[in-house]
Amino acid sequence: MTQRLYYHDSFLYEFDAEVCELQQSPKPALFLDRSAFYPTSGGQIFDTGVISSENEKLRVTEAADAEDGRVIHYLEAPAKSLQAGTKIHGQIDRTRRRDHMQQHTGQHVLSAAFVRLFDLHTVSFHMGDDYCSIDLETPTLTKEQIEGTERLANEIILENRPVEIRFVSQEEARKLGLRKVPVTDRDELRIIDIQDFDLSACGGTHVNQTGQIGCILLRKTEKVRQGWRVEFVAGQRAVATVRRDFTTLTDAAGLFSAHIYDLPTQARKSLDEIRNLRKQCEQSLEELAEAQARTMLAEIPEANGRKLVVRDLADRDMNFLKLLAQKLTRMSANVVALLGTTSPQPSLVFAQSPGQAADMGALMKETLAKSGGRGGGSKDMAQGGVPTAENVKTSLNHASATFRQ
Ligand SMILES: [Zn+2]
Repeated sequence: MTQRLYYHDSFLYEFDAEVCELQQSPKPALFLDRSAFYPTSGGQIFDTGVISSENEKLRVTEAADAEDGRVIHYLEAPAKSLQAGTKIHGQIDRTRRRDHMQQHTGQHVLSAAFVRLFDLHTVSFHMGDDYCSIDLETPTLTKEQIEGTERLANEIILENRPVEIRFVSQEEARKLGLRKVPVTDRDELRIIDIQDFDLSACGGTHVNQTGQIGCILLRKTEKVRQGWRVEFVAGQRAVATVRRDFTTLTDAAGLFSAHIYDLPTQARKSLDEIRNLRKQCEQSLEELAEAQARTMLAEIPEANGRKLVVRDLADRDMNFLKLLAQKLTRMSANVVALLGTTSPQPSLVFAQSPGQAADMGALMKETLAKSGGRGGGSKDMAQGGVPTAENVKTSLNHASATFRQ
């Protein structure tokens, strides 16, 4: 068994040990007689760092619990000179460990605060690289509960209460009234005692005083299968998160030349304006299509009992083409409209006044087959897209020729 040095001192960043065994596959790794590296467990993620001997320096990329209960240290590259018995010096990444201690002890305080205030129990804890979360067993969670719990948790942090590690028997633990009693057959339990606030059995790394957590900030909440998930950040992560939020808000406020606190009002105002402008734009396009249709129909003489409108419009989208086709075919009972646009997308719309003999869907399919485009439609209205602007012109020529024979 590896002697776990972090069990008694979470601030032990450097240690001396002896290599017990090396492993080459599936990944290079080694086992030590004692280690301060924390392996992923109980929701807390692993430490990284360096293991060095007289002759070489190896980077530890991950630490985990091996199946036999020892701590396995995964290495970035295979060891060249180490063997069983080699003395090494281990150094764990302090910044990463301190961050983990802040998040993890923060979670103890937060979970206890939810119980104290609202009798809401934590059923699981997740620690990620950017934020952490707990799942609470509750059908509802209000904004007031979130804000109240955040306030109490930060008061406990400000009071700088001692966080102590105690080892007690199962029986003693039962008498103490732990927040969460672990399922284990071990007789000795490791208890984390936040003075007069929380007692829980835990194997993780923790700060010595709650003040070292720094602060705790609750973020997104969401309904999950077994209750509510609450995301949070503590310590330096909270500062980094708030800094990022502030930068984002400042950038957004800059777009409106507004103060960040006026952003919701400004954004709502802009959305209203956009909605109104969109409505006005739709109305104007409707009027434009109607005016253009009227002019076209006035200019084009009737031939073979119909008015054949063939137009290549630049810079109009498919929706406008369809709108124009609709106006043309409704204004007069004998119209065939063959319309195209080159941008934003080279497209075609073929339409006829209802009740006429041609088949626009079939004509569209046949026309597109020549250019390699895609589309189709009904007897009276069809649409399609062609690969290039040049195809629009040739397609219109081809389609109109069938009516001029
Ligand atoms: Zn813990």
